[in-house]
Amino acid sequence: MTSVRLLIRMIIAAAVLSAAPASAYKVEIAQGTGTELRWTSLPMKFNIHQMAAPGVGASATYDAVRAAYQTWTNVSCSYYASKDMGVVNMPTGDENDSVNTNVWRSSWPSSYGQNALGITHTIYDPYSGKILDADTHYNPNYTWAVNGSPSAIDVQSVATHEIGHQLGLDHSQYQDATMFYATGAGDTSQRSLHSDDIAGICYLYPSGSSPPPECTVAQDCAPSETCQNGKCVTAAAKGYGSPCNSGNDCQSNLCLQYGTNTFCSQMCDGNPCPNGDKCLPLQGGGSACLPGSAAMGTKLLGQPCQSDLDCKSEICVSVPGSGYLCSQKCTLSPDNCPSGFYCANSTAGGLCIPGGEPPPPPPPKKKLGEACTAPSDCESNICASVSGSLVCVRWCNDTDNPCPQGFICVPASTKMACIRDSSQPLPPTKGKLGADCTDSADCDSKICGDAGGRRFCTELCDPNAGCSVAGFDCVPAGADKYACTPAVVDGGGGGCSIGPDGRSARWLLLLFLLFLLGDRLRPARRRNR
Ligand SMILES: [Zn+2]
Repeated sequence: MTSVRLLIRMIIAAAVLSAAPASAYKVEIAQGTGTELRWTSLPMKFNIHQMAAPGVGASATYDAVRAAYQTWTNVSCSYYASKDMGVVNMPTGDENDSVNTNVWRSSWPSSYGQNALGITHTIYDPYSGKILDADTHYNPNYTWAVNGSPSAIDVQSVATHEIGHQLGLDHSQYQDATMFYATGAGDTSQRSLHSDDIAGICYLYPSGSSPPPECTVAQDCAPSETCQNGKCVTAAAKGYGSPCNSGNDCQSNLCLQYGTNTFCSQMCDGNPCPNGDKCLPLQGGGSACLPGSAAMGTKLLGQPCQSDLDCKSEICVSVPGSGYLCSQKCTLSPDNCPSGFYCANSTAGGLCIPGGEPPPPPPPKKKLGEACTAPSDCESNICASVSGSLVCVRWCNDTDNPCPQGFICVPASTKMACIRDSSQPLPPTKGKLGADCTDSADCDSKICGDAGGRRFCTELCDPNAGCSVAGFDCVPAGADKYACTPAVVDGGGGGCSIGPDGRSARWLLLLFLLFLLGDRLRPARRRNR
């Protein structure tokens, strides 16, 4: 709307009416453009200022005005309709709010003219002719009546005339017409419409044509309404957590701002909030719920932050070596922080911070001959049925691809596979006597021995009883201690075997037996979580 203009029409008090020439109704036209004025959205909305007409009670005033609107609505050749928006109390009753206000003023401006009974201010778009607002003021310096008193001005008659202006009619030359420019005390004839008035409204709003939609944009509707599908509807009050612009938007009448978010809230003094939401103190007293949807932070656990409001959890903590990070509450036992975090104790209770044990390594691959359920279980990536059992195997043939020592090549499935040679002793199980180790923790006995570069799990023994496992000898291992060491295989003097004087050789080797009990005093690796 680039510009709007104001049209002023009034009805005057006339003591003596003179005969007037017969002339048809006139419609209001825009000054300058000559465009006819009319409402392009109906029903035409009106309200009534709470101020009663002098000499008339409030409700009688309102009823008379409502009856005047109904008179125009009842015309059958017109689709014109009006909508009562109720009784209001506004400072001037002259707002451009698309609702036509009817107000008996507390004082009458001299500029309106002392003999004017009512004056209607019409705001319109001069190019389209669209009427935007039309408010009527009534003169409080007259005595008014609704009972036809001969000494008073009739409320309904004057209101009917002014409503004719509101909907776009100008003065008629017929002195019997409601739209005649003057009336007098005791005259109630303008309550009902003359055929000329009916011709006028049916020209502006003819039935049989398509009535315009009530609205096309929200501005066509009252401030408390929105335009939906061509109709003005009262904006539904919004529920808890909905965005809002003012308390009027909310069922609770409480629209709050938190950070940059505005939302319908509700008071929570002493009461729990919905969904377990936080109850926060309000500036100025009281407390209100903070809907989860209005929480500020978007940053997630472990992301850098500068304040609590940055974090979805609304918890930003200083983490030594890492600066400030978003955290979240947790329980210490069991630790319920997600992977990569552990629950650290703080004055505010458990808080998740980065760290903790690395994820456990995948289980070691199985060696040849060990039971398997899938190829991925095996170092060889082959899990095959041998003698009815699934074991890790390696394909083989006796000549080009022989099996490693301790294994023999046998038929498995449709191929040849290496399986353990049952005539050879089993290699020791991990952690058991004779198994490879790097420190005491690797051994069930917590004793990892060293024999010339090869470390193996050993255990203390009684030299009179010997070792519990065949293939091991109980030999001295330091002061008053004996430990088991693999029995020497007589290699027949081969270069890589221990010689015939095995005992002394073993003694030398066992001088290096390491990691005895003292090693167990080392504290177990600290768990960070
Ligand atoms: Zn008038």
